[in-house]
Amino acid sequence: MELIQIGTNTYYLKNNTNIGIYKINESEVYLIDTGNDSDAGKKILKAISNQNWTIKGIINTHSHADHIGGNKIIQDRNKTDIYANNLEGAIINNPILSPSQFYGAYPFKEFQNKIFMAEKSTVTKSVADLPKCLEYFKLPGHSLDMIGIKTPDDIYFLGDSLISSLTINKYHLFYIYNVEEYLNTLDYLSTLKGKLFIPSHTEPLQDITDLINLNRNKIKEICNTILQICTTKQNYENILKEIFNYYHLHFNLTQYLIIGSTLKAYLSYLYTNNKLKIILEDNQLLWEKNTP
Ligand SMILES: [Zn+2]
Repeated sequence: MELIQIGTNTYYLKNNTNIGIYKINESEVYLIDTGNDSDAGKKILKAISNQNWTIKGIINTHSHADHIGGNKIIQDRNKTDIYANNLEGAIINNPILSPSQFYGAYPFKEFQNKIFMAEKSTVTKSVADLPKCLEYFKLPGHSLDMIGIKTPDDIYFLGDSLISSLTINKYHLFYIYNVEEYLNTLDYLSTLKGKLFIPSHTEPLQDITDLINLNRNKIKEICNTILQICTTKQNYENILKEIFNYYHLHFNLTQYLIIGSTLKAYLSYLYTNNKLKIILEDNQLLWEKNTP
């Protein structure tokens, strides 16, 4: 993990999931997220001790396992405080809730893996208890209660509120819990003014306008694709199959859970906005495009 300084006291560790660092005094730092797993946690501990810093607290933007995977090893070694927002905190404290939320019931064993379920760590503080210099702001949509952090160096850590162009162009669909809130969060992001913006899974950006538009346009495209599929009434499994075919996605259990859960979010959004109707027929729930 390469340590990169991006402000007077703001740094990040370049990683699959970027790790934000804010140095609050000569020797203590706050981390923003902790990566995929205990290996990431060990690398973070090493990078921090190489600088003779100590970890004062961990701030989790949200509870997805690739953002909290290093929590446990860091907390076990240093009794570190962990800050998280409401429902994200509930999942961090009870990791089984993560695959349960994706699946909608008790998840079978293939879903109780480290992609969906981090080792248990314990949230000890609310985000309201953060030091005043670290501003948090809400970024709902990608997950239940995600937050971002602004440091006094005018640098914004954005969690997964903006998906990278690489991911969008390759996979098209990216995980969303609530489409309406995701779109509202994109509108909010477009109002932010800052020196640098750090999405969790791509390079830092000085200007996020293009990436906001790419995210928004892809969501609109996916909505239209679903509506096209639902020109005739379809059940959920059929729509999912057509989506995988249309975007040439690789179907496996992990993708079934991530894309399947995301499809449910889209169906919910399109139904709520009167674009789709529900038909209960022949013991099936069918979705059909509403004709104006
Ligand atoms: Zn996430």
